[in-house]
Amino acid sequence: MALSIHDARQAVLAEVRPLPTEEIAVQDALGRVLAEDVAAESDVPGFANSAMDGFAVRAGDAGRTLRVVGESRAGAPAALAVGDGEAIRISTGGALPEGADGVLQIERVSENDGQVTLEDEVEPGRNVRPAGDDLRAGDVILPSGTRMGAAELGLAVACGRSRIACARVPRVAILATGDELVAPGEPLAPGQIHETNGLTLSALATQAGAEVIRATVVRDTEEATREAIADALQRADVVVLSGGVSVGPHDHVKPALDAQGVREVFWRVALRPGRPTWFGTRGDTLVFGLPGNPVSVMVTFILFARPALAAMQGAGHRPQRIVARLTEPIPRHPDRDECVRVILESGGATPTGPQGSHQLRSMLRADGLAIVTAGTGDAEAGAMVEVELLDAPLR
Ligand code: AMP
Ligand code: MG
Repeated sequence: MALSIHDARQAVLAEVRPLPTEEIAVQDALGRVLAEDVAAESDVPGFANSAMDGFAVRAGDAGRTLRVVGESRAGAPAALAVGDGEAIRISTGGALPEGADGVLQIERVSENDGQVTLEDEVEPGRNVRPAGDDLRAGDVILPSGTRMGAAELGLAVACGRSRIACARVPRVAILATGDELVAPGEPLAPGQIHETNGLTLSALATQAGAEVIRATVVRDTEEATREAIADALQRADVVVLSGGVSVGPHDHVKPALDAQGVREVFWRVALRPGRPTWFGTRGDTLVFGLPGNPVSVMVTFILFARPALAAMQGAGHRPQRIVARLTEPIPRHPDRDECVRVILESGGATPTGPQGSHQLRSMLRADGLAIVTAGTGDAEAGAMVEVELLDAPLR
């Protein structure tokens, strides 16, 4: 009995061991996953400051004429306080001088001979950004498990940090099996094809926060397959094989894995494309034997390997799913759930085109995988289906 997508994914996640953590410079942390809570070390901003270029004054009525007694620029606070009848010139980000409790922007004053006349009333707090307006000292701003993007990098620094603890980057080895495979750009002899899975898998692994330590083609002999697997197992946290995992006379992956002591967790998922998907472990190392068709390999990596890589790094690993309306009927497979590559638009899910597992083109422009569950007849146009989003971060 083949496993459901959900059960297969759970079986993979059950084998994941979190990677050790390491301390790195925030500058190097783009895409990395935090392994500690990052709290603000002090209030941000640390001092009340002006939201405008203008004049810092005591709150009060319109029409006052005040003497300009100094200046507070960003990075250069005023040396003196603002008294009655006085104003201090201030720029955006400049510290609010002592004695002042409001700022009138430059457009609302007239300046003349060292004096300013205020056109508006200034209520307390006007144009003032109080201390702690963005971050409060002690607040956990970035919890452990956060994947560091642009805003997260900036916030870690704003919190006062230059270094953060992150999960080590998972090391992935990719082995593309097949005698028919030829390197990019090489002329094709009869029966040969250009090798694409190594590249699509490398890209998916990199996007999942992994380092691809090796991506090679392996010929269809049991010996070559065994040697490549032995080498990959020594260095990688995750080994991903493409092809050779079915039951043909030239499919050597399963026996080679067995010979290297990789324990099978499952083989076959009730899924189209991707039925022969194999998964096993040796120690803490995860091994995915993915079916060779170019779409199968991408879909099964996204469904099973991507959440595992996230979980190893301590990040959320639940894929984001939404519900959308099929815009055209899709025949159901009798006993496999089908991942139909769809474009999402205005709540509708439209297949990208022909959906053969060899038709890599079907991945182009796809926003998600619509899960058309097994059964008889069609999933009708207008039916609601779950769609697993392709590029959305896992949660
Ligand atoms: P297999 O799983 O080895 O039986 O391969 C299934 C199909 O995927 C065959 O048509 C292969 O030629 C094709 N295929 C396998 N590996 C690759 C690869 N690395 N790049 C492109 N196509 C592949
Ligand atoms: Mg093959």
